[in-house]
Amino acid sequence: MKTIAIKSHDGKLEVNYSKNSNKPPFRTYVITYNSNLSIGDNLENIKSAITGLSVDAAIIDNSLNYTFSDAIIGINHQKIDVGLAITNMLNIPVVNENRINEIGLQQAVDEKTEYLKWHLDYYGQYAGKRNYGQEAMLTIGNGFFGLRGAYVESHADQDNYPGMYIAGVFNQLTTNINGRDVVNEDLVNLPNSQFITFGVDHQTPFSVAKEDVQDTYRSLDLKNGVLTTAMNIQLSTGHILEVKATKVANMTNWHRYSIRYEVKPINFSGNLQIYSEIDGSVINGNVERYQDFDQHHLDITNMSAENNQMSLSGQTKTSHVKFAINTNLTSSNLDLDDKIISSTEDQKVKQVLNIDVKEGQVYQFDKNVVIFTSREDRGDLEHDSQVELTKSSFDDTKKDSVNFWKNIWDTSDIQIGNDITSQKLTRVNIYHLFVTGAALREDNLDASVGARGLHGEAYRGHIFWDNMFALPYYTLHYPKITKQAILYRYNRLDAARKYAQSDGRQGSMFPWQSGMYGDEQSQFVHLNPVNNSWDPDNSRLQRHVSISVAFNVLSYFHLTNDQDFMNQYGLEILLSISKFWESLAEFNEDTGRYDIKHVMGPDEFHEHYPNSDERGLVNNAYTNMMVSWLFVKVAELIKKVDKSVLQQAAQKADFTKDTLEKMDDISKKLTLDINEDGIIGQFQGYFKLSKLNFDAYRKKYGDISRIDRILKGEGKSPDAYQVAKQADTLMAYYELTIPEVEAIYKRLGYQLPTGYFAKNLHYYLDRTTHGSTLSRIVYSVLDEMNNNMDQSWQLFSTALLSDYYDIQGGTTAEGIHLGVMGASLQIETRNYGGVNMNQDIVRINPHLPKHWTRLAFKQNFKGTWYQYEITQDQINVTTDNNSKVEILGKEYSTTSGKTLTVKY
Ligand code: BGC
Repeated sequence: MKTIAIKSHDGKLEVNYSKNSNKPPFRTYVITYNSNLSIGDNLENIKSAITGLSVDAAIIDNSLNYTFSDAIIGINHQKIDVGLAITNMLNIPVVNENRINEIGLQQAVDEKTEYLKWHLDYYGQYAGKRNYGQEAMLTIGNGFFGLRGAYVESHADQDNYPGMYIAGVFNQLTTNINGRDVVNEDLVNLPNSQFITFGVDHQTPFSVAKEDVQDTYRSLDLKNGVLTTAMNIQLSTGHILEVKATKVANMTNWHRYSIRYEVKPINFSGNLQIYSEIDGSVINGNVERYQDFDQHHLDITNMSAENNQMSLSGQTKTSHVKFAINTNLTSSNLDLDDKIISSTEDQKVKQVLNIDVKEGQVYQFDKNVVIFTSREDRGDLEHDSQVELTKSSFDDTKKDSVNFWKNIWDTSDIQIGNDITSQKLTRVNIYHLFVTGAALREDNLDASVGARGLHGEAYRGHIFWDNMFALPYYTLHYPKITKQAILYRYNRLDAARKYAQSDGRQGSMFPWQSGMYGDEQSQFVHLNPVNNSWDPDNSRLQRHVSISVAFNVLSYFHLTNDQDFMNQYGLEILLSISKFWESLAEFNEDTGRYDIKHVMGPDEFHEHYPNSDERGLVNNAYTNMMVSWLFVKVAELIKKVDKSVLQQAAQKADFTKDTLEKMDDISKKLTLDINEDGIIGQFQGYFKLSKLNFDAYRKKYGDISRIDRILKGEGKSPDAYQVAKQADTLMAYYELTIPEVEAIYKRLGYQLPTGYFAKNLHYYLDRTTHGSTLSRIVYSVLDEMNNNMDQSWQLFSTALLSDYYDIQGGTTAEGIHLGVMGASLQIETRNYGGVNMNQDIVRINPHLPKHWTRLAFKQNFKGTWYQYEITQDQINVTTDNNSKVEILGKEYSTTSGKTLTVKY
């Protein structure tokens, strides 16, 4: 094992490297900490000094003595978790010499490696959007609620945002801006029930002020869903304390969560207060650019407190969703009776507990919280909430969470060999998918998964086409989650019908942004932060969202064979959507083909033609290709379903034989604009747009991912240029296989020259700024298909890091990006693992990144569990039914429970 040794002394950080030692390293000097540089720059210097040395681990021999991390060192009056920093930079574990002395180098390295793969840790106190972003990443939840990983001692301010959201609880408010009524529907931030803090000698209660917090460490244990925040505190009065808050969501009794709050006075005995609150005065304040809108969504109707319990209830202002929140305060080692004083004030219920404490002892308090809303509970909310509270305890909630997550990791984990960072972030993504969607696996929650999870307020919690990127992962492990997400759309078919009618169409047109009722929630104007002006927003013209809904139905059905679902719901959705597209396609006498007008593709930089008043664009290639594909799929399906089922669905969808006939014609005659080089135009007229000098803009502005804002700030319009926010023309290749896409061209009567795919990929990648996190992930797939693995890996690894590093510079603060999280899992298994389920048989063609030594995961396909273990030269498949698989083009039979091994 090759190691580096890290030591800090006399304000220096010294890194030593030993070439061939399998013992703790020889002290070969590499670099000394330069106190004139920042810690970050010093670490960058270390990185460049040791990159390429292929080091297996780092050893730290004089860390500070902390309970929460063994890799924190002090340099120049600053402390740094050099372990976290080096692991992030070099993807190696950092072990402590004391631990090596206890269990030996190899074991210490193995132990730390395992730890790193299961923990999302943050050291130190951060401010502003950086801390907001960490809170989003540390969110706990169960798909019913999401509770941001804020300090429990915090109220909403510039640096902290303890938001809480419940799936499907939205509220619409109207704000008059510049004489215009603007309606917005928000996922509602509910009262802050996580607040708990301490005070000493009846002084001001502790809040997470920088001057008092000596050190803080937050650790999310992905294995069991437990979030721990440890703080070393020194108050201005000289009191020193260690405080630990442990938060956990109940994963089966979704209405519950618990906090264990532990306080240890270090240098004093005396008087301690514990303050607990339910704060109903909260607003939706997570997203700064929404602050001009009315964000007061709650009316508090009732507050009470008795003994150790508190209760606050209310309702949302216009959607009238009632909610009841109950909490209690208990302690396993203290008698709290008569020691709690309760009060209510200005939309807050408060409790304070007063006790005598002794130096060096730990005092433990549990705050249990229960939340019900009228959406899922038809009884007496306040009563039900109180009864539920009597059943709730921290230990039970934790036990439940541990069991739930064990089950998740048993069935749904993706294991990656020889890449700590990818392994950790893959599990972070899986974790957040379940935090967002877990409760949907029970069929009584009328909700779906929003683009930003239950983690923040960006895009106002709305549901987009992003589902398409996230649902396949759910389907392969917990198909009921996908089913429920599709039923959310089914329940809003009427709203989609009305929307189509309002636009002069037939069938169902789903809104680009969907909230509570399924009406269009996209805004008409959007704030451009570059010049602070309100720009018109036509993003609603992304009618392709309806294709994604149909795609989700077909994909769910294909992967599960759930015929009941198809008969009862799926078919009606598909026919209604087909009807819509059929009504939108216009026959063009001049070309003898059909046009689809007034639409936008996924690239949001193009909303209409330059200097034109017409809405949208004509013949978006992606839209037209997918409509053709959809029409063929629906026609095939119709042939297979029961006649009476079809009749019923067709009647509801206003779908006739004529519709089907016209669909057939349209599916062969939709228009694409292909130039003489075989480049498919993103839309009609695309080739006439000007090219942009990307280099010049990069030079001037640095990050040009949001070139739309930059151009608008310069008084120009992105509509006029060949520049894309994200994958658009080639999007179909993300959803379908190459032969499926090529079948579309053929059906449409277009012929593309040899090598067209690589050419198109190159062409569009050159014109794309990746202004959406959904961009790189698609291009990494296309690059993988094109056998350009280095570029695929580069794009994929950046996409995998999107939220961890908040690569858009502040958007993670407003919620995670669910689409890219879900897509990354699909790329790992479908593209890199090469496990493709597009046909009726699983086909395996691995394409592992070269440094991955192993990829292992399970998936359920049509009722059979397939367990895969893929290395650089071997494929193991185990199924729980006798089955068939195709490996590298050759068909094999599997016997239930026996592993099939194929070398390659
Ligand atoms: C992207 C869309 C996406 C939306 C919500 C936008 O920035 O361009 O494709 O649906 O974010 O995530």
